[in-house]
Amino acid sequence: MSFDELGLSDKVLQAVTASGYTQPTPIQAQAIPHVLSRRDVLGIAQTGTGKTAAFTLPMLTLLETGRARARMPRTLILEPTRELAAQVEENFVKYGVNHKLSVALLIGGVSFADQDMKITRGVDVLIATPGRLLDHFERGKLLLTGVELLVIDEADRMLDMGFIPDIERIVKLTPFTRQTLFFSATMPPEIQRLSDKFLSNPVKVEVARPASAAQTITQRLVATGHEPAAKRETLRELIREAVDLQNAIIFCNRKRDVAVLHRSLLRHKFNAVALHGDMDQRARMIALDAFRTGESKILVASDVAARGLDIPAVSHVFNYDVPHHAEDYVHRIGRTGRAGRSGAAFTLVAPGDEKSLSAIEKLIGVDVPWQGQTVREAGFEPERPARGRGRRTGGRPAEPQPERAETTSRRREERPEGRETPRREPAAPRGAGKGEGRRRERDRERDDSFETPSFGDHIPAFLLRPAVIKTKK
Ligand code: AMP
Repeated sequence: MSFDELGLSDKVLQAVTASGYTQPTPIQAQAIPHVLSRRDVLGIAQTGTGKTAAFTLPMLTLLETGRARARMPRTLILEPTRELAAQVEENFVKYGVNHKLSVALLIGGVSFADQDMKITRGVDVLIATPGRLLDHFERGKLLLTGVELLVIDEADRMLDMGFIPDIERIVKLTPFTRQTLFFSATMPPEIQRLSDKFLSNPVKVEVARPASAAQTITQRLVATGHEPAAKRETLRELIREAVDLQNAIIFCNRKRDVAVLHRSLLRHKFNAVALHGDMDQRARMIALDAFRTGESKILVASDVAARGLDIPAVSHVFNYDVPHHAEDYVHRIGRTGRAGRSGAAFTLVAPGDEKSLSAIEKLIGVDVPWQGQTVREAGFEPERPARGRGRRTGGRPAEPQPERAETTSRRREERPEGRETPRREPAAPRGAGKGEGRRRERDRERDDSFETPSFGDHIPAFLLRPAVIKTKK
């Protein structure tokens, strides 16, 4: 099938040709004609399948008629993270070169004033993260009653990040006559419930089910001890021995481990950058750019920080930890083996990881082969709780410990990223009193969930100064 057969406008087709695409991907071929005929679409697809163009291309075609009105966006795209929102904007810039459409990005960490100015002038496409969108709405700067088309992207990630109450609220603010496109990589029951609620007689388009997404990827399990120094050593060996490694993403379950592992790799002279939730937006963009351009070959990342990022042609994925959620494994290894290319995914497995591993194998429907011995054959010992407060100790005592001991509290370390702040209750209706202000404040902090402010390992000097208490004489 060619792009010409999908019903896209000439302007869009020219931009597609200029992008160098010759054939639509399966999700594009299946979804685009339905979007153009104004049907609701339920797209079950993960990133890397070309799903962003599956909605941006027909949206551009549809937006060629009609015009934007002040404060009333014509279309709305909801994204769980700033990076994803920014990537969708880039797509509109790339495919919309022949259009004169106004696109606004409402994400946290950027001044309200500039965003207000754009909305006031009227936008054709509004791309937003839920928290910032509601902030604008509550400030009276935005009306969603003119939304003709709504896209809810990465719905399962929205669920993970506790954004569903916000999404439900936003959808209620849009007209029921709107067209809705709903994308999710997986369909847990809560997401099914939402799609039933938001979509009207949708066309279901399903591509590259998680279990089959891995066909071009060579997956291997690698046994290791569970203590950090042993894991880091095993990982370094794997990287050094990897065949045809062009670039790699290393996934950690905890953002703190991302920072520790990154520092360790730099000490061992690996060319690596890191992406985790305690980094500010600028630092994240710099790291991502370095990785995208190939200046840095290795990206150490957490699931939330890396989810959905458009990083083409990754040759290797290393799971420093077995992910706790089986779906995260599918997302992680989906960073390689894209667009029919071959890729390799190695997962370090330590004693105690059996449960998470079997959940993954159940989800993907295959037993991942071991490279070398299994954990049991290698004789790695399980973690044993130490005396006292249940702290964990190393299980491979003879192993040299080349790196500094961990210093920060274990409690913080064990929180998976993205689930650091407690889940929010459903947002209260407007004007619900003081609690609303506090809730919005919290929303702002967690606009992208991994924005939770933290000092990381650094303790600011003012906290170390002794407190001086003045007493009256
Ligand atoms: P996405 O799934 O939207 O994150 O897209 C993944 C990657 O595929 C991006 O780098 C797109 O630029 C690229 N892409 C999208 N559509 C096509 C296509 N029809 N042919 C080749 N590459 C594509």
